[in-house]
Amino acid sequence: MSVFDEHALERASEIDAQRARGEPLGPLAGVPIAVKDNICFDHGQTTCASRALEGYRSPFAATAVRRLTDAGAIVVGKTNLDEFGMGSSCEHSVFGPTRNPWDHSRVPGGSSGGSAAAVAAGMVPIALGSDTGGSIRQPAALCGVVGVKPTYGRVSRYGLVAYASSLDQIGPIAGSVEDCALALSVMQGVDPRDATSADRPADAIEPIADDHRAPDLKGVVFGVPSLAFGAHNDPEAEGVFARAIETLRAAGAEVREIELPHADHAVAAYYVIASAEASSNLARYDGVRYGRRAELPKSATLEEMYTRTRTEGFGAEVKRRIMLGTHVLTSGYYDAYYLTALRARRRIAEDYASAFAAGCDAVLMPATPGPAFPLGAKLTDPLMMYAEDVYTVGASLAGLPAAAVPAGLVESARLPIGLQLVAPAWGEARLLDVARRVVGVLHPRGVPSPQAAT
Ligand code: GLN
Repeated sequence: MSVFDEHALERASEIDAQRARGEPLGPLAGVPIAVKDNICFDHGQTTCASRALEGYRSPFAATAVRRLTDAGAIVVGKTNLDEFGMGSSCEHSVFGPTRNPWDHSRVPGGSSGGSAAAVAAGMVPIALGSDTGGSIRQPAALCGVVGVKPTYGRVSRYGLVAYASSLDQIGPIAGSVEDCALALSVMQGVDPRDATSADRPADAIEPIADDHRAPDLKGVVFGVPSLAFGAHNDPEAEGVFARAIETLRAAGAEVREIELPHADHAVAAYYVIASAEASSNLARYDGVRYGRRAELPKSATLEEMYTRTRTEGFGAEVKRRIMLGTHVLTSGYYDAYYLTALRARRRIAEDYASAFAAGCDAVLMPATPGPAFPLGAKLTDPLMMYAEDVYTVGASLAGLPAAAVPAGLVESARLPIGLQLVAPAWGEARLLDVARRVVGVLHPRGVPSPQAAT
């Protein structure tokens, strides 16, 4: 979407000069990163892939980005997304779709599809995404890379353009669990500018030290819900998941069947809650405060200005969410839809809590029902698109940390499938250690990449 070549070269020479002077360098000195374009940076535009923000330049950088650049990272560009983060395919963008590096006729997933594709294509080692209901994990899975959604409150949301504030989190997408841990160790922590960021130094994420011993999973307990073998799965993808479980077992993991009794309601509850919050958050795009205003005759009223600006500025999916969200918050429907969704959210969180209380280190599921789908395949059927999130929205509703790691390839099309690990709140240190070992066990010769295919 935008490439900051001059800025990147300038920053790189500054870091070279620091190094030459023998000054201490940050843990990410000189590491190029890409940032999803709904995360503010004080260079270039912040568009959210929306016409509504055409020309908008943020005067400040998000706390998460600032912490990475303070550690020496260099932002080389902003990446494509579904408009305001609403979508699962990166097709709802005013700039057009991003393509999957494994197969250019397929989607990279969404909404952080640009960040996942940039990492999978080898453009950057680390990219930032945002995850409201799966937008880091699902594209990471469909592009064969690692994505981590932190516990809600782990990473400051200051400077992340709000979609659904009770769900949104910034997190890393990278080629390895180690790189995700490094980025999180820098980004995490309380921020006075985000009242929902938490102060939990005792749960801090540390960078993972290199460990060249062959990994095993002795003593690790995974709970696999029956949902993981649902009718919605692509059979070949399910085969990859089933084989991965056998490999993890062979490496010493205990794999238990568990129930998440309310998991079937997660997609519905998520789309009610996320749309409700979005309808409120997106009210700020009024043609006055941010971005683009419609051109109007001098005689136009304020009402006409708002209407024209919003009609022209928002794409079809964003309008659908605003209408759905406004509807479920209308008095008369509020109890029936919004409060019911909040109750389901509570039950879903309790289901996960019981699984952890019974001794599971992580709940293990596929990250998606199938591999990357062809461009356009789900674009005209919003419910099909929403069903793509069946495995990811639960952790979001419960505020839990979750990682998507490469499980293996669907052989017929040579496309990656992701495995998702969901852990107890603030349990990222253990989650990342287990995820690192899972990747080592599943890919002893290294994680496959799209480059090897060509
Ligand atoms: N696909 C989900 C949605 O459209 C999740 C998006 C996200 O996590 N930002 O809302």
